[in-house]
Amino acid sequence: MDMEYLQNLDVQLLVGGAVAVLAIAVGAAYLYSSKKPKVSLDPENFKEFKLVKRLQLSHNVAKFTFELPTPTSVLGLPIGQHISCRGKDSQGEEVIKPYTPTTLDSDVGHFELVIKMYPQGRMSHHFREMRVGDYLAVKGPKGRFRYQPGQVRAFGMTAGGSGITPMFQVTRAILENPNDKTKVHLIYANVTYEDILLKEELDGFAAKYPDQFTIYYVLNQPPESWNGGVGFVSKEMIQTHCPAPASDIQVLRCGPPPMNKAMAAHLEALGYTSEMLFQF
Ligand SMILES: Cc1cc2nc3c(=O)[nH]c(=O)nc-3n(C[C@H](O)[C@H](O)[C@H](O)COP(=O)(O)OP(=O)(O)OC[C@H]3O[C@@H](n4cnc5c(N)ncnc54)[C@H](O)[C@@H]3O)c2cc1C
Repeated sequence: MDMEYLQNLDVQLLVGGAVAVLAIAVGAAYLYSSKKPKVSLDPENFKEFKLVKRLQLSHNVAKFTFELPTPTSVLGLPIGQHISCRGKDSQGEEVIKPYTPTTLDSDVGHFELVIKMYPQGRMSHHFREMRVGDYLAVKGPKGRFRYQPGQVRAFGMTAGGSGITPMFQVTRAILENPNDKTKVHLIYANVTYEDILLKEELDGFAAKYPDQFTIYYVLNQPPESWNGGVGFVSKEMIQTHCPAPASDIQVLRCGPPPMNKAMAAHLEALGYTSEMLFQF
């Protein structure tokens, strides 16, 4: 064996070894990161997230996309829970309100909020003023409700306006989990057709999972051709479109306070017990 051959062999072994070490390190880092995605939320302190995209969906609704600290970070929000957002109203006073992202922890690197902005709303003002590059202060998770697959056989849901987002989060989590067979029956009320949020996504769920998900839209001011409900959500609509009272079902509600109050009265009159009901 000559010297040159031995030297070449050494270099080859060295390079081969370095590549192997690197491969193991990258593999370990990948395994670690895929097993333990970085959670972005802090329950004790507000954290700032950068607005990277703002998409106007209608005259008073926009979808806000916020960046998470790294492309593989997750928000870290359990299904059924929400976040607190802090901002300033038109008077410069601090305001904190709850919001439920339409993204789940299966969406990495970013999270999205669909926000309805009211002309006189305090936090609405803050969102209306937000521009790409601005930061939003967020704290969480928050909330008394936490969803576990198999918790109930079926959910009934009554949502009004922007109260759809907690329902959307729970529904999406159920439908996107092939092992979760929970059924979801949603009644979604709005004033006009244009007010309906996330309609494309909701109709997509109904088309893709017809045996697991049904949706019944109710409008105060329906368009001329309309096959949904008309007026306010009635006792009869709940009876027809939600699962009947039983120990293995639950009816969730989220909407403006007068609607929540009316729904609670209807549900109680229909025989649903307090264990079967939850208000976000
Ligand atoms: C769990 C949960 C999740 C939620 N998720 C979302 C979400 O994803 N997206 C979303 O858009 N909303 C969501 N909401 C609603 C949200 O928290 C706020 O209630 C909403 O954004 C309105 O807040 P605001 O401060 O802008 O309005 P507020 O200032 O509280 O006003 C609310 C309403 O009262 C009216 N109003 C205000 N001031 C007056 C006044 N002086 N006189 C008469 N009327 C007045 C406003 O025009 C508006 O119609 C959620 C609520 C809950 C409980």
